[in-house]
Amino acid sequence: MKILALSGGIGGAKLALGLSHVLPAGALSVIANTGDDFTHLGLRISPDIDTLCYTLGGLDNPVLGWGRADESWAFMETLGALGGETWFRLGDRDLALHVWRTAQLAAGATLSAVTASVAARFGIASAILPMSDDPVATRVATTEGTLDFQEYFVHRQCRPVVRGLEFAGAAQARIAPGAQAALAAPDLAAIVICPSNPFISIDPILAVPGLRAALRAAPAPVIAVSPLIGGKAVKGPTAKMMQEMGMTVDAAAVAAHYGDLLDGFVLDSADAATRIPGVASIAAPTLMTGLAEKIALARAVLDFAAGLRA
Ligand code: GDP
Repeated sequence: MKILALSGGIGGAKLALGLSHVLPAGALSVIANTGDDFTHLGLRISPDIDTLCYTLGGLDNPVLGWGRADESWAFMETLGALGGETWFRLGDRDLALHVWRTAQLAAGATLSAVTASVAARFGIASAILPMSDDPVATRVATTEGTLDFQEYFVHRQCRPVVRGLEFAGAAQARIAPGAQAALAAPDLAAIVICPSNPFISIDPILAVPGLRAALRAAPAPVIAVSPLIGGKAVKGPTAKMMQEMGMTVDAAAVAAHYGDLLDGFVLDSADAATRIPGVASIAAPTLMTGLAEKIALARAVLDFAAGLRA
């Protein structure tokens, strides 16, 4: 039995970790968003892939909530002293991964191959699969003009008012072979859309031609977990973006956004009274504070999937 998850960074990686604890080794595949990827200081950086690798490898930084544990900052301090750009924080250990990836890509490796080798070195049994090996770049249309994703997200700290999203290169991108194989796995039992930002973490994945159709064609139920609890995001700009784009800010609007892709939707218990028209739904505690909560939510999602299959 195989489970496929679609994930962005922090919110998605939490549920992926829960799923990896509940499932047998090797049963979980995660298709990662690469729309946040960018070149900075000459380095190729894949923030969502790295968050997944650090989280599933047990190397994540619980204090910062991003990056690596046991991090040091000599590179950043030295760069700052030289007058270099320091708005995107790169710890020394994290930096090594970006240098390594950049060198491997320059030597002709695919992002999928580099990611698989990093995950193996980190001892990760789950497959972490870039949505595409071709470049896709999320751009944020704002009232201050169209901004590259990291310019909006990190440099401007999501302050500009969002009007829409663009995924440059998506129309030409091909589904990466690993993701393609995971979507077509004959023993696929569930597809889980993690509680990630629908607009900047999941929509870029769905924008790769053929991916949405492959999700619909898969015999496994597609279940999304709400990234909103009581109309608020746990972290990040999901709720702010929805409000700015003129949407109702609640879990039902997230479900409506995914539309006919979904067979099931998981609401937080706090939103148990919210009706999700046209889709089977359950309510469960979705705030993944510790490992126990991540595992409990993973179990609830898998039980829900089993019910939908039956
Ligand atoms: P990013 O790529 O690092 O921004 O991370 P994601 O897109 O994967 O996750 C961001 C989303 O995860 C936000 O909308 C958060 O509200 C949501 N999120 C983060 N932690 C939790 C959690 O514990 N439970 C739920 N339900 N959502 C969460």
